[in-house]
Amino acid sequence: MNTMKSYIAKSVDKIPPSGIRKFFDLAANMEGVVSLGVGEPDFVTSWSVREAAISSLERGYTSYTANAGLIELRRAIADYMRERFQAEYDPEQEIIVTSGGSEALDIALRTIIDPGDEIAVVEPCFVSYGPLVQLAGGNVVSIGTLAQNDFKLQPEELERAITPKTKALLICSPNNPTGTQLAREDLIAICDIVKKYDLLVIADEIYAELAYDIPHTSFASLEGMKERTILINGFSKGFAMTGWRLGFTCAPKEISKAMLKVHQYTMMCASTPAQYAAIEALQNGMEYVEEMKNDYRRRRNFFVESLNELGLDCHMPGGAFYAFPSIKGTGLSSEQFAEQLLLSEKVAVVPGHVFGKGGEGYIRCSYASSIEQLQEAIKRMKRFLASL
Ligand code: PLP
Repeated sequence: MNTMKSYIAKSVDKIPPSGIRKFFDLAANMEGVVSLGVGEPDFVTSWSVREAAISSLERGYTSYTANAGLIELRRAIADYMRERFQAEYDPEQEIIVTSGGSEALDIALRTIIDPGDEIAVVEPCFVSYGPLVQLAGGNVVSIGTLAQNDFKLQPEELERAITPKTKALLICSPNNPTGTQLAREDLIAICDIVKKYDLLVIADEIYAELAYDIPHTSFASLEGMKERTILINGFSKGFAMTGWRLGFTCAPKEISKAMLKVHQYTMMCASTPAQYAAIEALQNGMEYVEEMKNDYRRRRNFFVESLNELGLDCHMPGGAFYAFPSIKGTGLSSEQFAEQLLLSEKVAVVPGHVFGKGGEGYIRCSYASSIEQLQEAIKRMKRFLASL
């Protein structure tokens, strides 16, 4: 028999496992860890949403739904997108309910990429972007962002990265891991370049509900952009529903029709009870979203101020639940910093380099933890810095 490795596709073999995992695994075997590592809400999904799923099961709704998702849910998503983000979508033809934002990203990329196509990816970014582009046969063109620009994509950098093979820009706002939120005028400047070079935008807006200072602007709401945007969103972050695995895409009819083929052959449909839960989340869950958002804002203010007081320079992130402070002053690499902090003080953070270009010299700290945990983390980080 050949070696096991020889059976594994080269495209899969060459992809490294997620850099975040290594720190989860290390932390999992330790007692008393304060974890700022995970990218998920510490809130439990609201009771009425859980109840809606339970009730759907009691009523025996246990079969497949339409491939694109329950039409009631797609209508609720269309209303939500119109009311919250001024983006108009036809629930019959332009919305697909997916198994999380993750699947939404995957079907978007697999639908548009031909072998060798380039996708311009704004980094530091969510760890899945590069591997998903590669698995779809595309090439990543990384565009780094800098702390001095609050990690905002500079339009001229985008223009420099574009080649005749570039098909789309993949961008996330508010961003994981930097927390950067792009304002309307930032988006407009980016969209001018996108239109000039006739590109698509894959806009990952999964943190849209977690925008603390100014309202979120959706790419799809800007003039002339709906027809060139594949919007990624979902329930994981804003609605505290990570384990339900429910997301959605909004995209022009032709693209949605093509994405539906990929979705249909891989996923068939998203989980049925989760879809019933999501209808309730959209119809009656916005108050809870607001409460969680207000709580995250308080934690952000405390945590980011404390990091700066420790001498770890950190811009004030406009959204998501991540702080991305610089650790350059310590002389350590981000990997060394994260490893030593975990081993000596049992605080888990993620080294910035795992998020791509521009991430080295920073660490990602999720502040989706209680204020007490955040206070404890700051205390331990202070001790760690003093020990260096
Ligand atoms: N996009 C971004 C930017 C994320 O941070 C995440 C999760 O961390 C996802 C997409 C995937 O979300 P989901 O859990 O809905 O698959």
